[in-house]
Amino acid sequence: MNGRSREAHLRFAERRRREDEARRLREEFPLLRTLKLEVEEHRREATIAETKHVRHIIVDRAPALFAMPCNDPACRDGGHDMTDPMAQRLRDKSTDFVLEDVCMGDVRGAACGRVIRVIASATYS
Ligand SMILES: [Zn+2]
Repeated sequence: MNGRSREAHLRFAERRRREDEARRLREEFPLLRTLKLEVEEHRREATIAETKHVRHIIVDRAPALFAMPCNDPACRDGGHDMTDPMAQRLRDKSTDFVLEDVCMGDVRGAACGRVIRVIASATYS
């Protein structure tokens, strides 16, 4: 295993460990019923999303963690941890909200700066 893939492996293992130890959404937000996230990602200067996908969160099983990796393969130590702002909105029972985060990772010595936008739709009982 070379250094780079070992590092990626460790990072993956760390993420798994955090997810396993994290509280479940169901415990943190007992009134939350459904959660859908539309995730868009683009470079700082671009206005059109390069990637876009929809995630349906399985509220019964999902951890109360919203950390997403940076999609730039050259980015080191990047990613988006939206756990805190997400928790705040879910606690306030927000139904439709948008969160944005700029990647603080490093791409060949420069700031990555990729922007992620999460358009969330939630329902509560
Ligand atoms: Zn990045």
